[in-house]
Amino acid sequence: MPKVELHVHIEGSIQPSTVLKLAQKNGAELPSDTEAGLRDWYAFKDFPHFVEVYVAVSKCIQSPEDVELIVREFLENQASQNVLHSEATYTASTLEKHCGIPIDEQMDAVQRAMAYGERELGVNLGLILDIVRGDSLDRAFEVYGWVKDYSRKGVVALGLAGIERLGTLQYKPVFETAYREGVTAVCHAGETQGPETIWDVLSFESCVRIGHGVRCTEDPALMAHLAKSQTPLEVCPTSNVCIGVFPSHEAHPIRQMWDAGLNVTVNSDDPPMFGTSINEEWGHCVDTFEFSLEEIKAMNVNAVKASFASDERKRDILDRIDRHTDLASKV
Ligand SMILES: [Zn+2]
Repeated sequence: MPKVELHVHIEGSIQPSTVLKLAQKNGAELPSDTEAGLRDWYAFKDFPHFVEVYVAVSKCIQSPEDVELIVREFLENQASQNVLHSEATYTASTLEKHCGIPIDEQMDAVQRAMAYGERELGVNLGLILDIVRGDSLDRAFEVYGWVKDYSRKGVVALGLAGIERLGTLQYKPVFETAYREGVTAVCHAGETQGPETIWDVLSFESCVRIGHGVRCTEDPALMAHLAKSQTPLEVCPTSNVCIGVFPSHEAHPIRQMWDAGLNVTVNSDDPPMFGTSINEEWGHCVDTFEFSLEEIKAMNVNAVKASFASDERKRDILDRIDRHTDLASKV
């Protein structure tokens, strides 16, 4: 099926073989020098352990060429799974802070890889530059400045990620400024913390989509609100299970959210770190969550409509999905 993916992280998508190659080339330290060892290390205990792994992997990236390589490989992997349009979070601030790569060099490298993706693979990428919870307000405004500077060069939104319990509302001035200046935002919320974080990001008028949002099921008033507002939710089932938000795929509430009329989309988050892929996430939708072909199509269409792709590109992708499902229903 031709697809759109809205919630996936560039640094969290680096295949273990590339992580090892970069670590070796750049002399970065990792707890293992084998792919199997890395996969063991990825067996997350909790969200802080995940963040520790994420930062260590990010430190393996040391030059603009490394950035271009990981974005190219990301796009090749998306193309191989028929993901025609991706919106990916990229934590430029971590790479600037830990690896010393200036923002303009990072963005030039990303744009070279984007051009390669469009030219050679027929896929496109919109970038979300995220504020990491725990950042100072000054740093958050700095990231916002980058989003504005590169808004015509592939950056589609301001993001908010990181450890939810470190807070959300302290960044309200940034998101309010974004709203006044016409910059849209997408925020992680309701993953490791409950419904209150979702209410917090909903109070940001610039926030047009929610990353995860799965803990909304704990609050009936929030469920009703989300059904009415139709705020798109970027659901990443395997990620939630790996981080320990839910004990198993069977216990994941995606079906409940869908049945309540919420605007659900399906995503992979950090696929190699969670031992998954976007195709496997859709596989779970069929096998574990028992969605019908029409429901699968509707969730995919939700993602197209909630994306920042141009209207022309959206129409093109919707046509391709229609043609594909017509064929699939005849099989
Ligand atoms: Zn995420």
